[in-house]
Amino acid sequence: MAVSNKSRQRAIVIGGSIGGLLAAHQLRAIGWDVQVFERSTDDLADRGAGISTHQAIFDAVARAGLVFDTSSRTVPSAYVCYARDGRVIEQAPAWRTMTNWSRVYRPLREGLPAGCYLNNRVLSGVETSEQGVTALFSDGSRVDADLLVAADGIRSTVRAQLFGGFAPAYAGYVAWRALVPEFELPTATWAALKDVYGFGAPEGELLISYAVPTREEDKHKGAHSYNIVWYRPADETELRDLCTDEQGRRHEISIPPHRLRRDVIEAMKADARALLAQPLAEVITRTAQPFLQAIYDFAAPRITKGRVVLLGDAAFVARPHVGAGVTKAALDAMGLADAIEAEGGDLKVALPRYNDERTRFGNWCVERGQQMGARIRKRQPGTVAPPQAELDQNCQLFLSDYLRVARDIEAMTGGGG
Ligand SMILES: Cc1cc2nc3c(=O)[nH]c(=O)nc-3n(C[C@H](O)[C@H](O)[C@H](O)COP(=O)(O)OP(=O)(O)OC[C@H]3O[C@@H](n4cnc5c(N)ncnc54)[C@H](O)[C@@H]3O)c2cc1C
Repeated sequence: MAVSNKSRQRAIVIGGSIGGLLAAHQLRAIGWDVQVFERSTDDLADRGAGISTHQAIFDAVARAGLVFDTSSRTVPSAYVCYARDGRVIEQAPAWRTMTNWSRVYRPLREGLPAGCYLNNRVLSGVETSEQGVTALFSDGSRVDADLLVAADGIRSTVRAQLFGGFAPAYAGYVAWRALVPEFELPTATWAALKDVYGFGAPEGELLISYAVPTREEDKHKGAHSYNIVWYRPADETELRDLCTDEQGRRHEISIPPHRLRRDVIEAMKADARALLAQPLAEVITRTAQPFLQAIYDFAAPRITKGRVVLLGDAAFVARPHVGAGVTKAALDAMGLADAIEAEGGDLKVALPRYNDERTRFGNWCVERGQQMGARIRKRQPGTVAPPQAELDQNCQLFLSDYLRVARDIEAMTGGGG
């Protein structure tokens, strides 16, 4: 990619997760001087689980001059809907590529030169003017730049300060997540599931599952792990209870996995045994440390203001059924660099262009996620339980929704398959 006329303009990226890293690489590729400021002191790679990919992720990694090694992917051969009794309700050929969050994060993180990525830096405020933008940090430091990219996630500090009081809306359900290395599963369970993109749909719920490359620290437990995402309705009161730890402390947005109460985990595992096909329940019950994510919708009405842009989850959060959180961040990052380069580095023209292009896709993802998740809900009081045939049909509907959304995203973003 050519370096734009106004080379060595300076960008600050707030948030050093995948969105921030992708932005940093794409801006560096067009000749910008970039620094990433991440509040966490930890290596984020330890925390992710399985993700589904689209071609845009690989394009973004390649444009940064990095290599995404093929052992970092898994490709299930079939989508399979399982009934509670283990019966296969439906199956269809699969063509998705799955990976592990850390396998995307790691090369992006290690691909940045020393000094470009700073941990333990918490943004506390932003000052903007016609000429530039200044980031204020909680340690009292200030950093000036031509552009500030807010990749600071769903609870973006930048968005809260500069873009009005728009907050994510709780979707009414949570995702329980399990990730078990293959050697920790019975041989028969691993053999039954390893090539399967599985679905289970107990009443009002949805489970999806697939194999992913193992996290670095678990490699001695096998090359692959099995990943489960189990969506279960929980009203606000139930969510508060799920997010209350052993000491009675309430965690507002999400609860760190090691703080989940033992009784909450045991109840979830008992439900898995009662509601899910045996191999899927087996993965969940063998999970040493499940984790919980509340599901939100968020669409920012605007994603640029002056010299500040929102990117990734700071801009739009679609329910994970769309399978495109990282893909969307990759497209945002490439779209930002492309707009700046196409406009010769003139941010006054480039940023509105970024806003228009990325807002269309972001809104599409959010709406599609809402449609796909609409059947995840509790039964109305006083209504009767649906017959098995209806539950089977529901599972088939989820399977075809997942097939369609993946194809639609590839078609919209220029990927194959
Ligand atoms: C640890 C982790 C694990 C994930 N695992 C998965 C997964 O398994 N599957 C999946 O589909 N998606 C996962 N996601 C979400 C998915 O990765 C995102 O959709 C995608 O990475 C784009 O998110 P983002 O970078 O825009 O925001 P996020 O990934 O939420 O990152 C925001 C970053 O900003 C930092 N930050 C926030 N506020 C400040 C501040 N004031 N100052 C400085 N830094 C700040 C946060 O510490 C965080 O690192 C994960 C996200 C994280 C952080």
